[in-house]
Amino acid sequence: MRASDIRAVAAALLLAAVGLGAKAWADPPHDVVLAGARVIDPESGLDAIRNIAVRGDRIVAVTESPIEGKRTIDASGLVAAPGFIDLHSHATDALSAGYQAKDGVTTRLELEIGTWPVAGWYAAKQGHELLNYGTSVGHTALRYYLQKGGGEAGLAALRDPAEKFRAPEADQPIPAAAYPRLASLLEQGLHDGAIGIGSGTQYAQGITRREMLDVTRVAGREGACLFTHIRYGSLVEPGSTLEAIQENVANAAMTGACVHIAHINSMAMSQAPAMVELMRAARGRGIDLSTETYPWGGSVDAVRSHFFDPGWEARWGVAVDALQSRQDGRRLTQAEFDALRSGQGDDRVIMHLNGEATLIALLRDPLVIVASDGGRIEGPNGHPRSAGTFARVLGHYVREAKALSLGEAIRKMTLMPAQRLEAFVPAMKRKGRLQAGADADIVLFNPATVGSRATYGDAARYSDGFRFVMVNGVLVVDRGEPVAGVRPGRPVLSRYKH
Ligand SMILES: [Zn+2]
Repeated sequence: MRASDIRAVAAALLLAAVGLGAKAWADPPHDVVLAGARVIDPESGLDAIRNIAVRGDRIVAVTESPIEGKRTIDASGLVAAPGFIDLHSHATDALSAGYQAKDGVTTRLELEIGTWPVAGWYAAKQGHELLNYGTSVGHTALRYYLQKGGGEAGLAALRDPAEKFRAPEADQPIPAAAYPRLASLLEQGLHDGAIGIGSGTQYAQGITRREMLDVTRVAGREGACLFTHIRYGSLVEPGSTLEAIQENVANAAMTGACVHIAHINSMAMSQAPAMVELMRAARGRGIDLSTETYPWGGSVDAVRSHFFDPGWEARWGVAVDALQSRQDGRRLTQAEFDALRSGQGDDRVIMHLNGEATLIALLRDPLVIVASDGGRIEGPNGHPRSAGTFARVLGHYVREAKALSLGEAIRKMTLMPAQRLEAFVPAMKRKGRLQAGADADIVLFNPATVGSRATYGDAARYSDGFRFVMVNGVLVVDRGEPVAGVRPGRPVLSRYKH
C-alpha cells in the first residue's frame, strides 16, 4: 500500500469512527419523555396523540414514534399545551408563584404598571424564581421618581412603602420640559431589559394627554408595546372609557406604537364587548391594538381612590351592593361604604361590575387575550384570579359553559401573548408553542377535572387538574404536587439584553 493509500484508508476509518461517535451521541435517552399526551400546539394547529421529548431546557421532538427518556411520564388522558403566559401579574413573591404554577402558568409578566429602576428588578430575581419573569419599565413609577428629584432621593421615594399612586404628586402634571428626560429614562429601562412600557394612567391623574402621547412615542420609536391601564373606566361622558380608548387609538396612529389595553372587562363593564369591536375596527385600519380579560366579573380597587369619587355608581352602572368586603366577604351597605371611604387602613373591595354574558362575549372574541391581573395571595377574601384564572377558563368557560373551544382557550393563554411580545422580546418566539425547538415550558392537565377552586370568599385555593407543569425542562408540579426547592425561572428580556 502506498503512503497515500494508507492515508486514505486511515481517513475512511476515522470518518467511520466519527460517524459512529455522532450516532452514539444522538441516541442517549432524552431527559424527560411525556408519552401519549393529547398535544395541542396553537401555532401549527396540531391536536393529536404524541410523545414529547425534552432535553435540557428545550423540546427536541414531538413525535408519534416511541422514544425513550431517563424519565418517562405516562401522559395518556392528559392534554399537553405550552405553559401559560400571564401578561399581567402584579405578584412577585414565591407563595403566589406556587399558586400560579398549580394554575398552569410558566411565565408571569408585570406589564401593566411595570417598575423603575429596571436593572435592579431583574438582578434581584436571578436564580430565585419558580416561573419565568419579566417587567415593563413603569411610566407611573418613573414620573414619581422624577417628581421626587430623581437620583438617590427619587429611589428612596420609590422604596417608601407608602402607596405612591396616592401620593399628591400622582395628581400633578410634570412640566413639558421634563418630557425629554422621561423619554430617555424610559429608553434606558428598555435597554436594561424591560419588555415594554407600562402606564397605570388612571392611577396618576396628573398625566396629561401630551405626556401620554410622548410616552407612546417612545414605544413607537423603540418597537416596544405600551401596556396601559387607560385613563378612564366609565360609562358616562366626560371621562368615559370610550374617550380613553380613542386617546390610545390616536396615539398609536400618530406614533406607530403597539398599544395593549389592560383588562377591558373592568375598564368598560357592560360595554366591554362593544369596545373590543371598536378596537377591531381600528386594527382593520392598521392600528396595532390588543387587549385582555380575566375570567371573573369582579375587580378590586380602593374605596379611597379616585375610582370612588362621587358618581361612581352611574359610571359603572351598579349600586353599592356590587361591592364586597375583603375582610368578611359580605356585600357592603351604604353606611359601611361611607365608613371605609372616610376611614383608614385597607380600603380595597371587590367590585362586581360584570355579568356572565359580558365575560362570555369577551372570552369568545378572537382578539381578547386571557391574563390574570392577579397579585399576592392574601387569604380567603382576596381575588380568586390570583390563584385560579387559567383553570377557570378551562374548567368553567370551556368545559361547563362551552363558551369557547379548548384549542381557542389555549391559544389565548399561550401563542397570543407570545406573539404580542415577540417583535421586541426574542425569547417569546420560543414560547407559546409546543414543538421541537421551543422552550420546555409545558403543562399537562386533565380536561375532565381542570378547574379553579378559588372563589370569592375562599380565594387562596390551588387549582385542580394540573398533573405536571414544567419550566425550562424542570418540573415545578409533579403528579399534581408542587415540587419543593426548584427555581428554574429565567428572565424574559428585551432585544437589547437578549
Ligand atoms: Zn389595572
